[in-house]
Amino acid sequence: MIYNRIALIGLGLIASSIVWAAKRGALAGEIRGFDASPEARETARRIGLCDVFDSAAEAVEGADLVILCVPVGAMGQAAEAIAPGLKPGAVVSDVGSVKRAVIEAVTPHIPKGVQFIPAHPLAGTEHSGPEAGFAALFDNRWCLVVPSPESDAANVADLRAFWEGLGAHVDEMDADHHDLVLAVTSHTPHLIAYTMVGVADDLRRVTDSEVIKYSAAGFRDFTRIAASDPTMWRDVFLSNKDATLEILGRFTEELFALQRAIRTGDGQLLHDYFTRTRAIRRGIIDAGQDTSAPDFGRAPVGRK
Ligand code: NAP
Repeated sequence: MIYNRIALIGLGLIASSIVWAAKRGALAGEIRGFDASPEARETARRIGLCDVFDSAAEAVEGADLVILCVPVGAMGQAAEAIAPGLKPGAVVSDVGSVKRAVIEAVTPHIPKGVQFIPAHPLAGTEHSGPEAGFAALFDNRWCLVVPSPESDAANVADLRAFWEGLGAHVDEMDADHHDLVLAVTSHTPHLIAYTMVGVADDLRRVTDSEVIKYSAAGFRDFTRIAASDPTMWRDVFLSNKDATLEILGRFTEELFALQRAIRTGDGQLLHDYFTRTRAIRRGIIDAGQDTSAPDFGRAPVGRK
């Protein structure tokens, strides 16, 4: 057991996965929670997720670790709501997909004697809510911890041990570097998926149901990503503006280069480019972050 009592604010996909994984690893003596949505609280109680309270300040009373699991745009408000209930010596953390904006929103509400140590698990699905969580979500995934120079080493070590207990590998990273890396690996790819599905939807109006009927694996993967929670992703783009715009600028330049190669029939450029990107996929598989099974190991529709 790493903490006697933990509290989770926002009982959605990430919080409920933390609960199941913490129970699996016996990492906390007691798990308490609060969600601003009465329906989410009701669902969490019905499925026996944790001890659910009707106020954030009450939920965090006596907690050694409090994790803010709300959308990035709600982090400041959630931090303000827990402040009166925090015990001296407590650690507040979060799971937000953006770090600099969350640090700026949360830090002003952290009382003296309490430390804020941000974190971000690189794991998720396109589902939301208290029933979406499962214990294996963080297994073999990365969790990036973002301590500040003021962070107490023992507090950082406990938080790292907690995430390792949840099944994750842990690395430490500076907030701005985190936001740039995530703009490349997650935020911009989501925007591209949203755009591609939007384009196909426009097309569907022209070609009736063909886009859905003949949807090949590539497009189906885009639709899965583009089904992600609209609130969460709106907040990610609004709060990681600079890094996302930087990467989108580079993306647009590359896209134009490929567009030109297609127009001018430059097969060599296309072949070289795709050879380079194929090697990146190999690297991800070799690092154990995905499977080499065809179609991501999915069973074809209609077959088990
Ligand atoms: P989720 O399933 O939508 O759950 C978030 C919950 O927080 C909702 O029930 C929401 O209620 C509630 N909430 C909103 N504002 C609140 C407040 N001020 N106080 C208390 N509860 C509040 O979201 P999630 O997917 O778990 O994501 C949570 C966080 O994890 C986000 O910051 C996200 O960036 C990060 N994250 C997500 C993923 C992913 O793939 N999903 C991966 C890594 C990190 P309402 O629905 O009524 O607003």
